[in-house]
Amino acid sequence: MTTLGILGGGQLGRMLAMAAARLGIDCHIYCPDENSPAARVSTTVTVASYYDETPLARFAGSVDAVTTEFENVPAATARFLAARVSVHPSAEALEIAQDRVTEKSFINGIGIATAPWRSVDTLDDLTRALDEIGPRGILKTRRLGYDGKGQARLNGQEGAAEAFVEMRGAPAVLEGFAAFEREISVIAARGTDGTVRCYDPGENHHSEGILRTTTIPARIDAITRDAALTMAEKIVTALDYVGVIGVEMFAMPDGALLVNEIAPRVHNTGHWTIEGCAVSQFEQHVRAVCGLPLGDPARHSDAVMENLIGDDINAVPALLAEPGVALHLYGKGTARPGRKMGHVTRLRAK
Ligand code: AMP
Repeated sequence: MTTLGILGGGQLGRMLAMAAARLGIDCHIYCPDENSPAARVSTTVTVASYYDETPLARFAGSVDAVTTEFENVPAATARFLAARVSVHPSAEALEIAQDRVTEKSFINGIGIATAPWRSVDTLDDLTRALDEIGPRGILKTRRLGYDGKGQARLNGQEGAAEAFVEMRGAPAVLEGFAAFEREISVIAARGTDGTVRCYDPGENHHSEGILRTTTIPARIDAITRDAALTMAEKIVTALDYVGVIGVEMFAMPDGALLVNEIAPRVHNTGHWTIEGCAVSQFEQHVRAVCGLPLGDPARHSDAVMENLIGDDINAVPALLAEPGVALHLYGKGTARPGRKMGHVTRLRAK
């Protein structure tokens, strides 16, 4: 019997625990929140701080391997646990992905393009960055941004000072605006033996910075598809990564691909794999971090995944009545604007 420890209690942890259960693996959730979505489908729960070493040490002693379900787990927590038990993704991989500057430096450093970017610590830095890579750009906090939070769109110097003040002194990065044709992502997995398996790229639609839909396959040609998979493989290999990672990319009108960001975890744009493939991203991640062989990422169907955000939850009665819909609800109490409450997947014949 294997017990997998998961840091984090959100919907990604919930779907990981459900996939683990299918493989006969028990999950122990460690997170600071009572009654989390993941805890309610898992065998064991520790409700404690990521900074409290006593419960962390006890957690490490009670599981066979540890993984994470969100990228902002403190790297020091991962490091503390890694001295006691196998932890994937590593503290180093988390550290790289947690800061947009180290992330982009890493990506560019292995020869993969991003939108042009500059580090912004002062208003002078921002003024200079807009001159160099503007006029259109997006100012983003270096750390703790998600779902479009901590971001401001700029067009020239107008509004730049206000946007800088909004960052409240948080170190930031200015990215040149990428006039992409479409957004795609690759869900890649790497096993402990270095084997890499990638799912086909999905095409993603966001609104207000939040993912709305992922459609498989993405409308890209075979050359772009292969280039996207090669990039994802290069990234996981260079990181010496174990587990599933999401690599978000902008497909440009000239065929170029720019990496937007890497998410060292199972990814919202990979939820379609639950119904679309024999081995989902969640099972793939559990296999990888438990040292099991990776599964086949081939899909048997095309699919459209749609997030249920905030009031979208009111559509549940209609969705329950719709034939062919796979409905996933995360068991979150209150629907707030922007909160991911669940998702649906509709399969299409290939
Ligand atoms: P992020 O939090 O960096 O994933 O950004 C959220 C969304 O904002 C992305 O999925 C894009 O739709 C958009 N976005 C982010 N960065 C850029 C960029 N440099 N150029 C154009 N659109 C962007």
